[in-house]
Amino acid sequence: MSSEVAYSIVVPVFNEEEVIAVTYERLKKVMDTTGRPYELLFVNDGSKDKTAQILSQICQQDTNVKLINFSRNFGHQVAISAGMDNALGQAVVVIDADLQDPPEIILQMIEKWQEGYDVVYATRKERKGETLFKKWTAAMFYRLLRSITDVDIPVDTGDFRLIDRKVCNVMRNIKEKNRFVRGLVSWVGFRQTAVEYVREERFAGETKYPLRKMIKLSLDAMTAFSHKPLKLATYLGLLFSSLSFLYLLFVVFEKLFTPYTVPGWTSILATSLFFNGIILTILGIIGEYIGRIYDETKDRPLYIIDSTIGFSREGESHD
Ligand code: UDP
Ligand code: MG
Repeated sequence: MSSEVAYSIVVPVFNEEEVIAVTYERLKKVMDTTGRPYELLFVNDGSKDKTAQILSQICQQDTNVKLINFSRNFGHQVAISAGMDNALGQAVVVIDADLQDPPEIILQMIEKWQEGYDVVYATRKERKGETLFKKWTAAMFYRLLRSITDVDIPVDTGDFRLIDRKVCNVMRNIKEKNRFVRGLVSWVGFRQTAVEYVREERFAGETKYPLRKMIKLSLDAMTAFSHKPLKLATYLGLLFSSLSFLYLLFVVFEKLFTPYTVPGWTSILATSLFFNGIILTILGIIGEYIGRIYDETKDRPLYIIDSTIGFSREGESHD
């Protein structure tokens, strides 16, 4: 059954009514040139605008298009995962809906895949039309992540990538709740390679990644792929107990051999504020991990599907 579809294009969409019709046209144009059977699988991540209506209309007209509607917004990473779960293609490509990732690059990815690579990821050699803040935080994030993890997660690389069917099957069996998909794809291994591209400006609309979601994504990435933040407590503890010991020697020396024993109000206040700050930060870090452990133990489903369109054509039931 799955052998019929060569390529699945997974597109997570959240409130993209302004771009989605154009995105469909561009994807269709590119995929038609491959001459192989393909599916465009849109995962509507609880959009509140007309995205669902536009996509369902497209589904009526084009049998290559499928739509999964979530019951609410579950987030970009979860939408990608739902796409991978339901994709039938021999190669599965994940691409953003806003045309920042040019669909034409998919053809280069397919070429690499045909050469025998299992994962072809797209590295941004330039980002157009994004704020300095976004570029700077993204650059910092990828480098910080790289320095604290043992997994080789490529820098400046988003979720725009092609994965082979066997990698997709492995991904489907990873049940992590707070997912950082691009990290997981690196973690699974296989033969991986890169293509470079210029990340375009968003075609229309605003970013669907406000600072809140950026912070959540980076915390998911760091906690899922590194224990180093937890070890920070140990290192800081060691450092400051050594420093305190030296200070203690100094205080005792001062008391015994000098005439003035300063009341020391300033130093007490300063150290107390400083250490309280450190303790709260470390409690926060521990909390981030515990929260995620709690999410895993609850074992709730990753996402809830409200409805689907276009799947019955394979004679399969998705509910
Ligand atoms: N997206 C999603 N769910 C969300 C946020 C974003 O499915 O909660 C989709 C969005 O529609 C787009 C992709 O994820 O296709 C990337 O989002 P966006 O372009 O807004 O992020 P940016 O490029 O600004 O980082
Ligand atoms: Mg974007």
